[in-house]
Amino acid sequence: MEEPLRIGVLAVQGNFREHAAMLRRLGADVVEVRKPEQLEGLDGLVVPGGESTAITRLMRLYGLDEALRRFQRPVFGTCAGMILLDRDHLGLMDIRVRRNAFGRQVASFEADLDVGHGDEPLRGVFIRAPWVEEAGPDVEVLAAVDGHPVLAREGSILVAAFHPELTDDTRVHELFLNTVRTAAQPPVRASGRGEGVRGNREVPRRTREAARGA
Ligand code: GLN
Repeated sequence: MEEPLRIGVLAVQGNFREHAAMLRRLGADVVEVRKPEQLEGLDGLVVPGGESTAITRLMRLYGLDEALRRFQRPVFGTCAGMILLDRDHLGLMDIRVRRNAFGRQVASFEADLDVGHGDEPLRGVFIRAPWVEEAGPDVEVLAAVDGHPVLAREGSILVAAFHPELTDDTRVHELFLNTVRTAAQPPVRASGRGEGVRGNREVPRRTREAARGA
C-alpha cells in the first residue's frame, strides 16, 4: 500500500483545524506545525487563513519565517496564507497580493468560480479576502473574480484567496495533494517519465536561490 502523504498545517493562528480535518479526510497524515523542526520530513505544507499580521508576528517569534523560506516542498496558502507566500512576505511565490482587496463593505461573500475544463464550478467562500494584484510570468491563474486572480499556482506553490476548507468540495485540496505526489517523485531522467512533473518546482526554486546567492 502507498504510504500516506505527510502534510504539515501551520498552526499558529487561524483556520488550521479545518484544513487538518479535510486533509485527514483525503487520507493524509497531518502534522500541526508550530516549531521549525516540525517541518522536517513533511511532503507538503498548508498555510491557512486567519490574520496575516498575527501569523507573521507569531512565525517570527517561533523562528518559523526563516525555516519556511528554506522549505523545499509544495506549499498551499489560503487567504491570509496566500498573503504570506507573496513577494512582500515569505517570497515563496512570484505574486504581489492585495489584502482585504474586495473592500470592507463586502467583507465576506460566496461566489461560484469557473475553473474551466467543463468542470463543476467551485463554490468559493471569501472572508475579507485578498486577490492577486500582480503575478510573474510563471504564475498560472486557475480562477478569477471580476478579472482578479483568486486561485493560482506557480510550480508546486498553490494559493487560494478563498477558503476551500470551509466547504465540502475537496477538489482544491486534492489538487494540492496531487502536486505533492508529483513533487515527491524522483527527478525526471532522460530515460522517460517525462509526464506529470510540471508541478515540480525544482527549477524555479533553484533559479531563485541562485538569484539570492544562496
Ligand atoms: N483579511 C485577512 C488578512 O489580511 C485575511 C482574511 C482571511 O484569512 N480570512 O490577513
